[in-house]
Amino acid sequence: MPLKLAPGLSIRKSLIQGKGCFATKTFPGGRKIAEYTGERIPDQEARRRARRAKLRICDIDGRFSLDGSRGGNGTHYINHCCEPNAYMKTLHGHILFLALRDISPGEEITVDYEQTLHPDTKRCRCGAPTCRGTINKI
Ligand SMILES: [Zn+2]
Repeated sequence: MPLKLAPGLSIRKSLIQGKGCFATKTFPGGRKIAEYTGERIPDQEARRRARRAKLRICDIDGRFSLDGSRGGNGTHYINHCCEPNAYMKTLHGHILFLALRDISPGEEITVDYEQTLHPDTKRCRCGAPTCRGTINKI
């Protein structure tokens, strides 16, 4: 299935990890970047899939999750960073990415994952001066 990217996003190699999600236009601070899309699955299935090496799963409400590796729009490539330029917000069962500040074309879009299905020991290599050293906030 070809990847259908949300408007204003492109996927290319990231300095943080693997591929990343980059802006191709300006996203003003406080404004929506895109919605996280993917296959809707129960959290139990999400935990089962978490054994995969590449994790593209986002929890909606503690019961259901979205797996962006199936039906994702590019937002599932958004990497974690301890000094992010975007954040996630759940609204009426939808997961939205919003800009924390103005994001310029060419910038990699990042969020602070805070909690993931990764083990708490998983190291963060975001390279930010304030990097806390782990992906999960513990
Ligand atoms: Zn970090």
